[in-house]
Amino acid sequence: MLGIMTGCSFEKPGKKEGSTIEEIKKRDKLVVGVKYDTNLFGYKDPKTGNVEGFDIDIAKQLAKKILGDENKIELKEVTSKTRVQMLKNGDIDAIIATMTITEERKKEVEFTDVYFEAGQSLLVKKGSDIKGIDDVKSGTKVLAVKGSTSVDNIKEKAPEAEVLEFENYAEAFTALKAGQGDALTTDNAILYGMAAQDPGFEVVGEPFTDEPYGIAVNKGDKEFAEYINKALKELKDSGEYDKIKDKWIKE
Ligand code: GLU
Repeated sequence: MLGIMTGCSFEKPGKKEGSTIEEIKKRDKLVVGVKYDTNLFGYKDPKTGNVEGFDIDIAKQLAKKILGDENKIELKEVTSKTRVQMLKNGDIDAIIATMTITEERKKEVEFTDVYFEAGQSLLVKKGSDIKGIDDVKSGTKVLAVKGSTSVDNIKEKAPEAEVLEFENYAEAFTALKAGQGDALTTDNAILYGMAAQDPGFEVVGEPFTDEPYGIAVNKGDKEFAEYINKALKELKDSGEYDKIKDKWIKE
């Protein structure tokens, strides 16, 4: 009713600088872009239909902080390729989806402080000759996901290798299992989540990049980014952050 009276302007996640928190409050729901296929971070359990993971728990805590209820949240699926455009389109208020803070991306979105630190690594079939990045050479087929930093990094670190790009992590892992490549590359934390789903695969070598994750909001929306920074700090100070981390990420 209110939406009709005001021309529905606030029903879509907001874009106007300074008004995001207000819009979320009026809407009474936080809309967050998350992964659906990334075990441990954002994963839709096919049995229950629930979307779960570290990123999801952080998103729920943010909803609790803004609206006083962690269930006042709508999770929308994003992939590495679609997330920035969905934010720009106003489909989501924020991206909480294993997203590395980079200078390039800072031109398009506003990042919060770092909320998780990962590093890029390799997932291979157990017994593979590939034991680390130095074994990725000419003739090695490496699988990665479109729109990820992993694609650019592997091309830089192993320029001779052949890189095959997939739409999302579910497809890339399926391809690895089907023998379409010798290794899958992305953040170690994501790869550990895959290895946990299939013991025939293992993470090898030391991480060869730094991947600091940030929450992304619309470019220029410093007020919302600062608000989230405060919320993250409170989560860390209260011990809630560590609880969430321990729940999903083992050493
Ligand atoms: N953290 C890396 C990135 O932001 C890889 C994980 C992902 O694709 O989301 O691109």
